[in-house]
Amino acid sequence: MASCHFNLFDDLLTQCSREVLLYANPHWQFFRLTTGIYSIIPTSINYQLSAVIISCGLHGNETAPIELNQVWLQGILDGDWQPIRPILFIAGNPKAIFHHTRFIDYNLNRLFAIKRSTQQEKEAQGYETRRSQQIKQAVEHFVGLTHSVNKRLRLVHFDLHCSIRSSHYPFFAVLPVVLGEQSKWNIYRFLANASIQAVINMHKVVPTFSCYTAIKYHALSATIELGQAVPFGCNDLTKLESFSQKVIQFLTSTKIPLKTGTDFNQLQVFNVSEQLIKTHADLRFNFANDVKNFSQIAKGQLLGWQNGKPIQVSKNTYLVFPNPKVKIGQRALLLLETEYPDVEATKN
Ligand SMILES: [Zn+2]
Repeated sequence: MASCHFNLFDDLLTQCSREVLLYANPHWQFFRLTTGIYSIIPTSINYQLSAVIISCGLHGNETAPIELNQVWLQGILDGDWQPIRPILFIAGNPKAIFHHTRFIDYNLNRLFAIKRSTQQEKEAQGYETRRSQQIKQAVEHFVGLTHSVNKRLRLVHFDLHCSIRSSHYPFFAVLPVVLGEQSKWNIYRFLANASIQAVINMHKVVPTFSCYTAIKYHALSATIELGQAVPFGCNDLTKLESFSQKVIQFLTSTKIPLKTGTDFNQLQVFNVSEQLIKTHADLRFNFANDVKNFSQIAKGQLLGWQNGKPIQVSKNTYLVFPNPKVKIGQRALLLLETEYPDVEATKN
């Protein structure tokens, strides 16, 4: 019998602005910090281990990670898994989750700039702006709890998403530009072991949640895309079994599951070489609407048109996240080049 029955979807309906203890056992306590944000805090914190933030549903229609979070939380509360690290679970955008939509007023995953411009402040008034503040406060509170005199736990942050379109590599991660080389290699080895097929190294600071935690808290952060977004109930979670198992292993064990050996090169590593910003309303692309992420574009190929002028690529490249419908000033496309991981470098 469950020690504490918990339904994330029902609980998201709870309007809550103060911390509530939902369940406790001799090993850890389970709190709701505010609507959709929960912490699991071990009774005795081991400062040798890292603390973990797992966020999902920053885009309300990306359902698989939300279903996974329900599985993980219920498994912990049922006593199937014993977490040994402090964990912060965040369901990012409850209102958009209920409306089965990406966002209500503004893309929440563009509201985590360390410093926002006046233009962004003006554009982004609304539900998601308030929600991003709640999330930032919860993270600050969580980091404070896992902080003792002279000691701060290393923070790991997985921000889980699904892609709008299908991908040549359905399971891939986007890493903030600020990660150091050693941090990147550690994340590569974890992701490769968790059946993630590709990573994209960003080329600049962006206002995403994972970039925010990487900069502000020096977290080992990754945005992880877990297949194409489909409605609730239509996800085949068996496809995410390997990823899920590695996350559970990480939460419940002192040993981090990292990939070693020769099959490490299954992880395809890309670097962002260029981004296309939408500067004019007439932006359109010269490829099918359903083009897959990581599609190859040959040197000289016509990518599209903007401001009445053709957009051409100067070298062989791969495209990802094409979206001509973004607001003016936002990113409409990323272009990538490949980088082949050197297995020897992981031994340094
Ligand atoms: Zn997303």
